[in-house]
Amino acid sequence: MNNISLLEAKNLRKVYYNGNKQLEVLKGVNLSIDKGKFVAIVGPSGAGKSTLLHILGGLDTPTQGEVIFAQKNIYGLSDEELSRIRNERIGFVFQFYHLLSEFTVLENVSMPALISCQLSVVSCQLKNEALRLLEQVGLTQRATHFPSQLSGGEQQRVAIARALINKPGLLLCDEPTGNLDSKTSDELIALVKKINLENQMTVVLVTHNAELAKTAQIVYHLRDGVLVN
Ligand code: ADP
Repeated sequence: MNNISLLEAKNLRKVYYNGNKQLEVLKGVNLSIDKGKFVAIVGPSGAGKSTLLHILGGLDTPTQGEVIFAQKNIYGLSDEELSRIRNERIGFVFQFYHLLSEFTVLENVSMPALISCQLSVVSCQLKNEALRLLEQVGLTQRATHFPSQLSGGEQQRVAIARALINKPGLLLCDEPTGNLDSKTSDELIALVKKINLENQMTVVLVTHNAELAKTAQIVYHLRDGVLVN
């Protein structure tokens, strides 16, 4: 059976301009990721990993090049279409969780679905789906808690459940264990791996931690602005 490419980067360049200074962070990144794979991109701090992940997820525009997601050049889409893809088809997990402190765990997990369905309250069906995800990440007992009442590892598991609520095809993780101790990191990566296998979820994880990256099926190194396999 032929592999199906879900995400492709073609000759991506990113230049940041600060006054009259230029910083070329990505110098021609090419990448093709098949559906269902777990890919890690590893590189030292400042190598451009977050920049690349943000561009792959439609959060930042490249200076040059294309990102093809599900056969569409995402930077050729209207803002509205791109927002819809980001909200419904791509899940994001960031180093600092980015949970909304004034909302409960259940509400945080439901948030992307509330936005995409333009609902103002959590429906019964959505609540059941959020609870199912909270069970999957081992947080059933925390549904009515607020983020400040949770540990870092628990908050990150809420962020993972939130990333999955709209059943995206792609999960992008930006240094997801960067703020966690090593035992909690291992548990979190085991969870991401389980989700990758059980949900056939394509995962792209960027990290400076080479040991962590080894848990992925495919590891790329970001060096001098290009990817090396
Ligand atoms: P990493 O995730 O590998 O640590 P980043 O993608 O965050 O690397 O950053 C790569 C480089 O680009 C760094 O030198 C950083 O300072 C610079 N950079 C990131 N974002 C911006 C920005 N918005 N404006 C200018 N420089 C930036």
